Amino acid sequence: MAHRDDDVIVNALVRQALSSTQEVMGENGLNAVLRASGLERFIGNFPPNDLAPGIKTADYARLNQAIEDFYGRGGRGMLRRIGKASFQYGVREQAAMLGIAGVALKLLPEKQRIKFILNGMVGALKKSNPNVNAWLEEGERLAYIEDTCAICHSRTSDGPICHLYVGSISEAVQWATGRSFEITETHCMAKGDPYCRFEVGEAVNHG
Ligand SMILES: [Zn+2]
Repeated sequence: MAHRDDDVIVNALVRQALSSTQEVMGENGLNAVLRASGLERFIGNFPPNDLAPGIKTADYARLNQAIEDFYGRGGRGMLRRIGKASFQYGVREQAAMLGIAGVALKLLPEKQRIKFILNGMVGALKKSNPNVNAWLEEGERLAYIEDTCAICHSRTSDGPICHLYVGSISEAVQWATGRSFEITETHCMAKGDPYCRFEVGEAVNHG
């Protein structure tokens, strides 16, 4: 599936992105990247928590680019932090959409827990926009794949750039298992791959 010019992100997800960006960058930081990406209409004016079309997907990608530019070499880590905050926002504000309301995972094996939450993310995205195409791949390693990725929409790069997605997935896996796992973006549409693919690697030992 190729990116289309008329792809949109719904208000609820724009609100989630702006809230988590503000949480990590502060209000001044958020306002700076909103100006840099042509989204100043959202300064002090977040969209409502509904499923009406919010912004073009290309604008969302530009916001990601602006955050990366704002921090230079630190941009990748900052986007991961925003991705983590974004998943936590989802747990607080969109538990029903994620399918996690009232669910107890304790009795499931770890791999089932990871699949549960990643499937929940796929489901929530599809509920927000039926054009979203994302799925899980179960090979030697579990992977989360999307070929409608909004982060790298209309961007090009030599390496993978969907750092915010990496942050969200790693926070989701940590939420489901209580452990931290290495998440690697192995494929990215920005470098010409047919989809963005995020692989769940080994548990990280924080010792
Ligand atoms: Zn991507």
